[in-house]
Amino acid sequence: MSTANETPSANCIWCGTQTKGNEPPEHIVPEAIGCPEGFILRAGEVCAACNHGLAHVDQALVHDLEMYAFMAGVPNRRGGPAKVSSFGNVHAEARNGHANFYVNMDPTPIKTTTGKRLPGFRGKERDIKAVMHRDGQMATIDFPLEFGRSPKVARGLVKLAAEYLCWAMGRDVAAKAIDGPVADFVRHGKGYRPIVLFGSDVTKYEHHFGHIGQHENDGWWCAFRLAHFHVFVDLTTNLGAFRQTAHGLYETMGPTGWTTLPLDAVSIKR
Ligand SMILES: [Zn+2]
Repeated sequence: MSTANETPSANCIWCGTQTKGNEPPEHIVPEAIGCPEGFILRAGEVCAACNHGLAHVDQALVHDLEMYAFMAGVPNRRGGPAKVSSFGNVHAEARNGHANFYVNMDPTPIKTTTGKRLPGFRGKERDIKAVMHRDGQMATIDFPLEFGRSPKVARGLVKLAAEYLCWAMGRDVAAKAIDGPVADFVRHGKGYRPIVLFGSDVTKYEHHFGHIGQHENDGWWCAFRLAHFHVFVDLTTNLGAFRQTAHGLYETMGPTGWTTLPLDAVSIKR
């Protein structure tokens, strides 16, 4: 029997290190893109070292989604104003009911009206190539946004799915599912974990976590909506759930309306 003075100890689902229960809370969805209330692991399921050490994986998701989050008015972490800060030549911030959006298409840095130094456009991965169209007194700025170009985005989605499994089914189930290929992929980028993206809906920015299941006796899968994207993540060892889902989608939808990360995870003539 434990007393009130004892801190319950258990193991981190990512690295297996014993944790003490006073670890920092792990937000399952990164705060910068809006973590649903209570969607947090608070009982030391993730140790402080993994919480901080895997932040770069979360950041890949933040980069690909923060523009959408900003446009939806999602407050920044710690309740601050909505913000876009992970791009090179773009900065946006909502303050006092005004949204300021800066895109620097010059090669040289500029200073924004809020005094922030904004790097120039140098064609780097984190730069946005914007095009301005003018029609009479109206001007529009177009730029492409990609989802999942960096391989770290897939790692971020698998991490999120595994922590969702932990939140829904408990630490023991998650630790068993993660140990092996899932941990290698998320922690070290090792191995191959393709993901299914089955459609997007840009009318509403919302996260929805509703589906989790077992695939034969080989582990778990999760399906969820993150921002505008519907995502299917296979957490099994042999990727059987991925194959079954991709096959099912092809049977019902043909080659369009869904895709995979990486793009060539299934060979279909599109
Ligand atoms: Zn850990």
